[in-house]
Amino acid sequence: MPVAAAVSLRGVTRVYHTAGEGETAALAGVDLDILDNEFFTLLGPSGCGKTTLLRMVAGFDEPTEGHVLLFGQPIQGLPPHRRPVNTVFQSYALFPHMSVAGNVGFALEMLGWPRAEREARVAEMLDLVRLPELGRRKPGQLSGGQQQRVALARALAPRPKVLLLDEPLSALDLKLRKEMQIELKRLQRETGITFVFVTHDQEEALTMSDRIAVMRSGHVLQVGSPRDVYEHPRHRFVAQFIGETNLVGGRVVGEADGAALVDLDGGMRVALRADGVGAGRPVTLAVRPERLRLAAGGGDGDGGWPGTVGEAVYSGTDTAYHVALDGGPTFVVREQNRAAGTATAAVGERVSVVVEPDAWQVLED
Ligand code: ADP
Ligand code: MG
Repeated sequence: MPVAAAVSLRGVTRVYHTAGEGETAALAGVDLDILDNEFFTLLGPSGCGKTTLLRMVAGFDEPTEGHVLLFGQPIQGLPPHRRPVNTVFQSYALFPHMSVAGNVGFALEMLGWPRAEREARVAEMLDLVRLPELGRRKPGQLSGGQQQRVALARALAPRPKVLLLDEPLSALDLKLRKEMQIELKRLQRETGITFVFVTHDQEEALTMSDRIAVMRSGHVLQVGSPRDVYEHPRHRFVAQFIGETNLVGGRVVGEADGAALVDLDGGMRVALRADGVGAGRPVTLAVRPERLRLAAGGGDGDGGWPGTVGEAVYSGTDTAYHVALDGGPTFVVREQNRAAGTATAAVGERVSVVVEPDAWQVLED
């Protein structure tokens, strides 16, 4: 029997009516399966519908159309406290007048847990988030990072099956944020709970997730592992939103040995092995800067695309060369600085940009 997903969305649409603006579809027909025990991330720019999606799962809001299922069961109309789901917000929303232990045990008290069990669970949770000594403090006596740990302990205490995390790290400074990223990964691994994590930060999504859903304007554009969405973006938006990318337009002009021949804007011809690239069709191709290489020269017959270095931006581990390709776009080429003091190319120098055939990605849109 197939294992039911922890969270499923089937054709979920949420339309808001706003005076003067008419209707906005915060979510537009979203289908999604989040597996049990996954660290799953919703990634997209502000306003793309991430919080709206979480609110549907938590039960703070209901779809205009479509269904949300938890472990295969429809949950329409089930109030938030009856769902095996808990949420951690960006603002930790701790009760300021209550002690840390009081905050962590609050939901358990509401659920009628006996005192001894409650206290044991609170101690266990404070151990889990590595704040065993701080149960008596008030939230105001804690740092931002410690408050976030308390919020996590509080959300995990009633043993939810799914934890929703709405940009929980965005209020923290960079160093603390990096620490909490590792901490969250550990908590997910140790508890085995399904985490649905929201961020607009692509690097955070890549480093933390088992899988990522990339969203734009109420739609899920692509779902996959960090490697999938980075190395094989299917959409122009996904290619540009995640990491740096070089884009070039072209047209499919024929076929040879099962590969599509594409004439790129600027005159280069490349052979691509990709599905669905029919003759005559305009295409957009993307290639990551680190998949490109500089070769000496810049004349014909060097096997690369000739151009001139416009800028060389040194950033320690690597250097980004901006190369204006003859008759074409400017591409960024990233070269690792393996040996000290050696620049691969100087500004103004003629070079060739070499692209391995399998480095090209064909994009929709
Ligand atoms: P995100 O969390 O990705 O930043 P949201 O889910 O908060 O995005 O919002 C998605 C869209 O829905 C936005 O255009 C937002 O303005 C709109 N929206 C969200 N909540 C409401 C609401 N209560 N009333 C009207 N529009 C809303
Ligand atoms: Mg939001």
